[in-house]
Amino acid sequence: MSECRHVAELPRPEPAPLSDTCLACLEAGTHPVQLRLCLECGHVGCCDSSPLRHATEHFRDTGHPVMRSFEQGENWRWCFADGSIV
Ligand SMILES: [Zn+2]
Ligand SMILES: [Zn+2]
Ligand SMILES: [Zn+2]
Repeated sequence: MSECRHVAELPRPEPAPLSDTCLACLEAGTHPVQLRLCLECGHVGCCDSSPLRHATEHFRDTGHPVMRSFEQGENWRWCFADGSIV
């Protein structure tokens, strides 16, 4: 869990969230199940349980590897590049 080099490269302080919901879902008319915050740029996207999985799409589009849960009371991080919690 400590082997992720991407976390060390993240901007500090953490970027402010660009929105308070998944804007891509808003546009598509779908509902995010849970939200994820990109720790590289502040993009807010929906999780893999959501219909369109925009957080994963954001990683594919931008290569930003690390996001964290944007849900209240949760603060775990996920690295897409490593495929694990970091
Ligand atoms: Zn990583
Ligand atoms: Zn979405
Ligand atoms: Zn990003």
